Amino acid sequence: MRYSQSLIPTLKENPAEAEVASHRLLLRAGYIRKLTAGIYTYLPLGLAAVRKVEHIVREEMNRAGAQELLMPMVQPADLWHETGRYEKYGPELLRFVDRHDRESCLGPTHEEVITDLVRREIRSYRDLPKNLYQIQTKFRDEIRPRFGLMRGREFIMKDAYSFDVDDVQAGESYQRMYDAYKKIFTRCGLDFRPVEADSGTIGGSFSHEFMVLADTGEDTLVICSSCDYAANSEKAEVKAPQADESPLLELTKVETPGKRKVPVVCEFMEIEPHELVKTMVYKADEEYIAVLVRGDREVQEVKLKNHLGVVDVEMATDKEVYDATGVPTGYLGPIDITIKLLVDQEVAAMRNFVCGANEKNFHVKNVNMGRDFEPAAVADLRQITASDPCPVCGAALGMKEGIEVGHVFKLGTGYSTAMNAVFKDSNGQDKPMVMGCYGIGVSRIVAAAIEQNHDENGMAFPMPLAPMQVILLNLGLKDEKITKTAESLYLELQEKGVDVLLDDRDERPGSKFKDADLLGIPLRVTVGKRLTKDGVVELRQRKDGATEELAPEMVAARIVELINAAMID
Ligand code: ATP
Ligand code: MG
Repeated sequence: MRYSQSLIPTLKENPAEAEVASHRLLLRAGYIRKLTAGIYTYLPLGLAAVRKVEHIVREEMNRAGAQELLMPMVQPADLWHETGRYEKYGPELLRFVDRHDRESCLGPTHEEVITDLVRREIRSYRDLPKNLYQIQTKFRDEIRPRFGLMRGREFIMKDAYSFDVDDVQAGESYQRMYDAYKKIFTRCGLDFRPVEADSGTIGGSFSHEFMVLADTGEDTLVICSSCDYAANSEKAEVKAPQADESPLLELTKVETPGKRKVPVVCEFMEIEPHELVKTMVYKADEEYIAVLVRGDREVQEVKLKNHLGVVDVEMATDKEVYDATGVPTGYLGPIDITIKLLVDQEVAAMRNFVCGANEKNFHVKNVNMGRDFEPAAVADLRQITASDPCPVCGAALGMKEGIEVGHVFKLGTGYSTAMNAVFKDSNGQDKPMVMGCYGIGVSRIVAAAIEQNHDENGMAFPMPLAPMQVILLNLGLKDEKITKTAESLYLELQEKGVDVLLDDRDERPGSKFKDADLLGIPLRVTVGKRLTKDGVVELRQRKDGATEELAPEMVAARIVELINAAMID
């Protein structure tokens, strides 16, 4: 590719809207341009990076026995009605009607479409297992599209779906995908970690997420310092504490005028936050629910959602709390509360705690579950912290931020039962197919790779994902020897199958060097004055700045050697 003919509109300034490095650099390096919120055009280099990811994904999926197909993006609502997801999916599903008044949606995921296909085409156990995948543009009307390619509304995903005769075979399919994913992210050159993930209301470890470790990640992971345990913190189980056996003290009402917030109440009552219990109110679908957690803890909304088996939980506003309970926020407590009450297991183990009195300007102390109130249920409902022990081995936990780039999920027979996707087993009996689904955020991987690999001058792509492997600078357009050498190197590298960008623009060396750094291409070859003077060209590695000088005829072989060493198979 010749720079002079390409569309690589680099920017000198940092775009104001970009909060994270990948977003900033993708815009600055002319890889992407925004059309509207969460929707981007991939310019030639951006697309080339996406294609590198796709290539690795395709190779490993095919190797794992999956077959590629391509499903439509527009999906009829009828299919989604069959699984009940048309109502349940929420506003991320972009719904519309066509000219014949048919309800439709843009595919955010393809369980319905693939299950419809498979139920029509596959009849017998002899035709199973099957694993089908596609690499396709998805649309999700994300509430907060941000960070460029990281969380778009339109983005490229690889989605695969497996169909098996029973749980055992489905478990094998899951394991094959899990292994393929490890291979894929390793080959991408990413520092990643598979973690146990939330699997909705199914429960158990039926789902793993693959997380690229980066400070800008939107997910928090807990990682055991001793055993293999690693999980998304929204799913990480908290070990139940030992019950406090102290004698029950007398329930006492205390006037706390204007004291609503935990630190203020604690200071006023001369207690520590862990001696206090907060009453949090959530709107769970249409019902208001109160949840008790210790004063220094947070409710984990995903755990709450799963416990209740609802679609959506949201913290209630002050007004909603008042309307639902008759008590202003800050003074709410479990005694005689009028809405459904859930208790975090840690609170259930506490004795003689302080909480709101369900009366403005009052709290109560020496409150005890069982004696003073009865909850609807006790469960693990709080967010894990770094000081909790590993739920598997009890050792200390570490916490890290991660970017979710892949997700493998055992679906079981939920979709196949709802959509009547059955096969005849060897006795001629109809059985629902056992399914799994497996996603990879192809465009998000490009952003994640940059989050992990950049410096103040620009990106520094890992070789396997770099849109171009070499940038070749011609610093003497008017110098015959320099130009001839650059041009013949350009040809030679292309012949050897190297992806090379020849910077043949009429620009000052300084700006060529700057752009080369910004673009993040792993190897830079400079053909300039040193050729005229000493007969050498310079080869520099973007990542560590390592530089060598070589005779032009040695360059191609050295580059091939460096590329081969950097590629992982
Ligand atoms: P998240 O929790 O980040 O919203 P998700 O659980 O909704 O992700 P899946 O439905 O499992 O994601 O989708 C599969 C993969 O697609 C994810 O692992 C992620 O890499 C990618 N992905 C999901 N949403 C987006 C998005 N809005 N923009 C870019 N990639 C995305
Ligand atoms: Mg999502």
